[in-house]
Amino acid sequence: MAAQLRLRSALALVTGAGSGLGRAISQRLAREGALVVAGDRDGAAAEGTIRLLEGMGSEAGSGPRCHAAFQVDVAEAGAVQGLIEQIQVRACFSRPPSVVVSCAGIIRDEFLLRMPEDYWDEVIAVNLKGTFLVTQAAARALVSNGCGGSIINISSIIGKVGNLGQTNYAASKAGVAGMTSSVALELGRHGIRCNSILPGFIITPMTKKVPQKVLDQITARIPMGHLGVPEDVADVVAFLASDDSGYITGTTVEVTGGLFM
Ligand code: NAP
Repeated sequence: MAAQLRLRSALALVTGAGSGLGRAISQRLAREGALVVAGDRDGAAAEGTIRLLEGMGSEAGSGPRCHAAFQVDVAEAGAVQGLIEQIQVRACFSRPPSVVVSCAGIIRDEFLLRMPEDYWDEVIAVNLKGTFLVTQAAARALVSNGCGGSIINISSIIGKVGNLGQTNYAASKAGVAGMTSSVALELGRHGIRCNSILPGFIITPMTKKVPQKVLDQITARIPMGHLGVPEDVADVVAFLASDDSGYITGTTVEVTGGLFM
């Protein structure tokens, strides 16, 4: 089936773009015609994603594409602000990203009774504060340029239902969903939508750290009968990024195969 080009004029920033969901989302947005800025704390991994985008986009085959990779630690306010500024001064872009996908995330699992304070701090810093910093910097740029946009935050179903050994992760992802609703309330009048996605268990390098026995137990509880693949999430991101979801804001979309419904 021919790819739709719903994002022909969009500039999309994806964080955590060097791996897993972020890489698949970058590929999907580029296939829809968007120019993609891939940000990751692993700059080489982000470059790897950009190489996969060659030839993709609305101008594919008709000239050089301007997809770009940036090394960025989303937990560092200065680095995030610098990224948004660099994007706007780059000749290919010269505008803030109108699609912003916060996908960078980490896990540091341990049971509550043994959870070291630094595990808590690291997960909150990347998953929650990082999403806040990216959302805030991008929103400020969009508002001051008078542009609308779509901000999509990757939360998790674990933020809604909790999980053994993930008090820190669950708190960070519940925070992302709550923040998303507040952002939607504040930015709707600027034509900026903000939604979050709650993936269930998706096969990526992150879930490869989960013991197979546990994955088998989870799979047995999924109504669709299998774990998700990154493209399942990327499809929903493309929808939320596009005008097809133009009247949807402040919501969460569960991409779980029916798990925990
Ligand atoms: P992944 O393969 O580990 O990808 C995460 C990417 O984010 C990695 O490239 C990672 O770099 C990068 N990253 C980590 N900390 C960063 C920082 N401070 N600044 C910039 N980039 C950073 O994981 P994934 O499964 O694709 O997960 C992507 C997002 O989906 C995460 O937010 C995760 O919580 C969420 N999610 C995943 C699932 C799932 O089942 N896979 C389910 C629900 C939600 P390093 O490799 O250097 O750490």
